[in-house]
Amino acid sequence: MKLIMLGAPGAGKGSQAKVLADKYGIPHISTGDIFRANIKEGTELGKKAKEYMDQGHLVPDELVCDLVVDRIKHSDCEKGFILDGFPRTIPQAESLDAALDQINETIDHVIDLEVSDNVIVERMGGRRACPECGATYHIVNMKPAKEGVCDRCGHGLVLRDDDKPQTVLKRLEVYHDQTAPLIDYYKKQGNLEEFDGTMKPDEVTKTIIARIGE
Ligand code: AMP
Repeated sequence: MKLIMLGAPGAGKGSQAKVLADKYGIPHISTGDIFRANIKEGTELGKKAKEYMDQGHLVPDELVCDLVVDRIKHSDCEKGFILDGFPRTIPQAESLDAALDQINETIDHVIDLEVSDNVIVERMGGRRACPECGATYHIVNMKPAKEGVCDRCGHGLVLRDDDKPQTVLKRLEVYHDQTAPLIDYYKKQGNLEEFDGTMKPDEVTKTIIARIGE
C-alpha cells in the first residue's frame, strides 16, 4: 500500500499517518521529522533546512526530492509506505512519479485532509511538541498526563518555532500557493480521496480505512 497524506499544516496528517502506518505495517516517512532529526543532530542538511523552516518557507525541492526517493528504496518499503509532508510542490510530485515509474509502481491513494484555515490557526497555536522524542500534544484536545511534560519520555514540551502564529500564517499562505495545486494534480491521476479533517481523529481514521480498504 503506497499512500500520500495531503493537507494543510496542522490538518492531522502526522497523527493519521502514524495510525495508518501501524495498521498497514508500512513505514511512516515524514520529511518534517527527517529535517527536525537533522537539525537536532546539527547536520549540514539540518542547518540548511532550519533557515527555511523557522520562517515558514518550504525547504528547496533539491534538498527534499533525492532524500525521499532514496528513502523509499530501502527494503522496509517493499510492502509500501506512507508519505507525510511530501510531496509539497508539483516538481516534488513529478520527481516522485518519475522514481516510481522506473520501477513500474504508482501511488495507490492520496489522502487529502480538509480543514479550514481558521481551525488550523486555532489548532496549531495550541500544539506542543517534545523536542526530545518528537511526540505532539494539544493544550485542549490532546493534553499530556502532566501539563507541559511529554508522556513518552518525560522531557518538557515546547511551542515549535514553526507553530508560532506568524509562522503558521506564512505556512498557510505557502500551502495554498504551492501545495494545494497537488489536489488537482492527483485528481487528474484518479487517486485522490478527500476527507473531512475536522472530525475526531479516530473517526477520520475509521473513514479512511473504510474507503481505502482493510
Ligand atoms: P511538517 O512537519 O511536515 O509540517 O514540516 C515542517 C517544515 O519542514 C515545513 O514547514 C517545511 O519548512 C519543511 N518541509 C517538510 N517537508 C517538506 C517538503 N516536502 N518540501 C519542502 N519543505 C518541507
